[in-house]
Amino acid sequence: MQVGVLSLQGSFVEHINILNKIPGVNGVQVKKKEDLKKINGLIIPGGESTTIGKLLERYDLLNPLKNMISEGFPVFGTCAGFILLSKRIFQENDQPLLGVFDITIKRNAFGTQINSMEIDLKIKNFEIPYKAIFIRAPVVKEIGDSVEVLAEVEEGPVFIKQGNILGASFHPELTDDIRIHQMFIDIINKRR
Ligand code: GLN
Repeated sequence: MQVGVLSLQGSFVEHINILNKIPGVNGVQVKKKEDLKKINGLIIPGGESTTIGKLLERYDLLNPLKNMISEGFPVFGTCAGFILLSKRIFQENDQPLLGVFDITIKRNAFGTQINSMEIDLKIKNFEIPYKAIFIRAPVVKEIGDSVEVLAEVEEGPVFIKQGNILGASFHPELTDDIRIHQMFIDIINKRR
């Protein structure tokens, strides 16, 4: 199976490395429209959501991707990637978005004091808690009926699913634990 990682800005190399640890999975870089044709699912990495959004527009990826996701193509956004998948941003509204997740998300939601932190996160259906790394992370503020919450912290949901779309506020590519990526692969397999 070929899983693409949007490779315009941010932590795409780390995502590719962890994907390649999963048997039968090949992580590939996605930089242009043609690259979308050869993949079974796409990860949008952490980085800076405003920058990635502008690059998506510049390389004519924003609308094609939006259409694919609306038709059921599996996509997983982490941190900045999660922000890009959201329909609404709390108290901000002019950055380019894919706008497919029926949520309002708040950027840098843990305050300017806390740049990064590690939390033992309880995740739905995980027997052992997951060590989640948050870096200037967003949190979900409002949530539509079709969205399932998989994990939350005091500030709000941080890991959610809406059919073919998965979103995490944290950075699963920065650990050795492959369970989160495996969950995305399971979503792809169900839809194939
Ligand atoms: N704070 C960044 C943003 O708003 C996201 C940070 C990250 O991806 N680690 O886009």
